[in-house]
Amino acid sequence: MKEILDISLENEMDLVLAHRRSMQVGEQLGLTVATRTTFATAVSEVARTAIEYTDNGRVNIIISGKFPRYSLYAHIVFDSDQVFRASDEGFFYAKKLLPDFTFNSSGNAYVIEMGLGLPRSLKLDEPKLVLLKAYFENAEPLNAYEEIKNKNSHLNRLTGEQEEEIRMRRELDEKKKEFISIASHELKTPITVVKAYTQMLKNLKGEYSERVSGVLDKLDLQTSKLSLLAQQLMDVSKIENGSLQYDLVEVDLNSFIKEALEILSNVHIGNKIKLTLGENCRIKADPLRLEQVLTNLLGNAVKYSPKNSAIEVLTKLSPDGKNITVTVTDSGLGMSKEGIERIFDKFYRLEEVSNSHPGLGMGLYITSKIISDHGGRIWVESVPNEGSSFSFAFPVC
Ligand code: ADP
Repeated sequence: MKEILDISLENEMDLVLAHRRSMQVGEQLGLTVATRTTFATAVSEVARTAIEYTDNGRVNIIISGKFPRYSLYAHIVFDSDQVFRASDEGFFYAKKLLPDFTFNSSGNAYVIEMGLGLPRSLKLDEPKLVLLKAYFENAEPLNAYEEIKNKNSHLNRLTGEQEEEIRMRRELDEKKKEFISIASHELKTPITVVKAYTQMLKNLKGEYSERVSGVLDKLDLQTSKLSLLAQQLMDVSKIENGSLQYDLVEVDLNSFIKEALEILSNVHIGNKIKLTLGENCRIKADPLRLEQVLTNLLGNAVKYSPKNSAIEVLTKLSPDGKNITVTVTDSGLGMSKEGIERIFDKFYRLEEVSNSHPGLGMGLYITSKIISDHGGRIWVESVPNEGSSFSFAFPVC
């Protein structure tokens, strides 16, 4: 079965189109003028009834059968609350015109199939049918109405395709989010267990050699890195699901930063961390998340700077006392203008570091989200090969 034409039946102008196109099909097939007129008239009769009561009909002109016996058919479908019978005027007349005629209805859906066998003398075969279909696909519009109609249906098709693409992308995105969420949870448990066993072994110090001790330290360090990655994955997943939650309390900023940096300087032993505290203030924040912000900024400052270089941390209250700014400055790799613009995007990493420094580009994305969720903002100033200054500002209580 080959569909040659598909015309929507919305108004009187479609009736003209259906008639003229049916005539053309007959002409292209080589039918006599009488036969093609009969076929086109039958199509018009049924199409007229459909158009009179609905604007949702369609007519398909089809060639069915196989070599060497083919038939020319018109399928007309439409929905209507009006009750029709095969004996109604338009259908009755069409039935008289064509040898094959079936009238089917189910609920308010109507399907009318009508047609005639094509004489073998037309010498039809599959390649000719392909050419016939192509002829109508490429045919010039019969009038301005058909031209607009074709453009519209082309646009509709494009919109439909785009909508489908968007739907598929959304579905894929949802699956990706679900995967990240499950994977990060599943990773967390074994990592915690490995870390606990490592700690247990480390506590047995004295019962094993120095060499084993060194291996245990490495194991501990790598497990911590793995644990951080799993935590970051979990945070990204929470951000995407909108389920990142905060326990907000009033925090005395200067003492909080002092304490946090004391702990962090034990982690980054080689680096000299210089802290300059400005006027003190209290902010409303989730202490664990605030610590995460400092850990990430300081960790990055160390990671993307020469070994054992100095890091500066500075707090500064705004002159009106409404905002507090915390700045972490390093003298490391710095970054390009493009890097500065995209640095807080999810999974973004500078190309220069992708082979030299491990990471997944999640830290700054999470950091910026935590800060904006606290009503603050984060920004970076940087000069390539000279260093970077990451600042974040929070509203004061
Ligand atoms: P990760 O460090 O795991 O890649 P982040 O989100 O923390 O993830 O950082 C994203 C990218 O930003 C890094 O890959 C790096 O290219 C750049 N970056 C972050 N901090 C600095 C810094 N202090 N100096 C230079 N580049 C930095």
